[in-house]
Amino acid sequence: MNQMFCPNCGHCRKSEFVFCGVIAQAAAGSDTALWESRPVTPPRAMKVRDERWIHQYGCAQWIRVTRDLRNKEVLKVYRIERSEMRGEGDL
Ligand SMILES: [Zn+2]
Repeated sequence: MNQMFCPNCGHCRKSEFVFCGVIAQAAAGSDTALWESRPVTPPRAMKVRDERWIHQYGCAQWIRVTRDLRNKEVLKVYRIERSEMRGEGDL
């Protein structure tokens, strides 16, 4: 997977994005996931998870990516609003 989707910019090179940690485990088939205030290390059993990425070399927006770890397929991409970044200090 050499490309990633940004809600602002469309499909861009994956090298423009920086992985910033795991948000929470997402239930398979669910649109919702628990938000945790800090990135956590995923347990080995986790199959689908929400991750926080930033389009560092593009629009500099935070995005949430729901990804299936078994095949690394990106299932959904969401824009992260600043108000969602509670507990993150000045991020
Ligand atoms: Zn972007």
